Amino acid sequence: MDEQAARLGLALRQAGIFDPPVLAAMQKTPRNLFVSETYQTHAWHDEALPIDCNQTISQPSLVAYMSVALKVSKRDKVLEIGTGSGYQTAILAHLCRRVYSLERHSILYKQARARFHTLGLSNITSMLGDGLKGWPQQAPFDRIMVTAAAETIPEELVNQLKIGGLMLLPLVEKNPTQPIAPEWDRAYAIQKLVRVTRLEQGFDCEELIAVQFVPLIAGIAK
Ligand code: SAH
Repeated sequence: MDEQAARLGLALRQAGIFDPPVLAAMQKTPRNLFVSETYQTHAWHDEALPIDCNQTISQPSLVAYMSVALKVSKRDKVLEIGTGSGYQTAILAHLCRRVYSLERHSILYKQARARFHTLGLSNITSMLGDGLKGWPQQAPFDRIMVTAAAETIPEELVNQLKIGGLMLLPLVEKNPTQPIAPEWDRAYAIQKLVRVTRLEQGFDCEELIAVQFVPLIAGIAK
């Protein structure tokens, strides 16, 4: 293993990540492939970085934390909302049977698809689409990971989970003194990562940690 991957492994352990399959997936996924020329020297650092279309690639320790918190197994069919660079998708691909990933920006969708091809990740199916609608043709899913901040728990997505299935999503904290935040204000609002469990009737919800994500926006980008 090269030095950069070893250093990232150390940073992840320091951040409290000890899950062997997740650590292995993080160390074998070349994050430099997922960021532009400008950020190559930072690619393996534990920090979020800008990608095209005003979006971000998440910090590796958060990608790892979410991969552990979603309790993904090799048998699982996973839906990801917000492909972005495709980095989180690639990590999930090593942990589960198949990942379906949706992105609303055509440029990001195409870049990510090319990266999956380069890396030979043949268990990823990605599509340009509105993640708020989910992927009904492929439902139900064992797991759903949303990597953009929602205002409320999207019912459409809960309905595409198997009973007992889990969904992880960043939710904007409601501020009772303010009306619903405009889309871009949401990125700077306080957000909580929430884990939803689908029950026979309805769902359960646990709050995990504070996070910062770009907003989940309805519709395909123009
Ligand atoms: N997991 C990504 C981080 C993505 S940032 C990575 O590792 O790089 C969040 C992404 O969600 C952005 O690319 C944004 O365009 C996308 N997004 C926001 N709303 C969406 C929606 N309704 N459907 C699909 N993708 C969406």
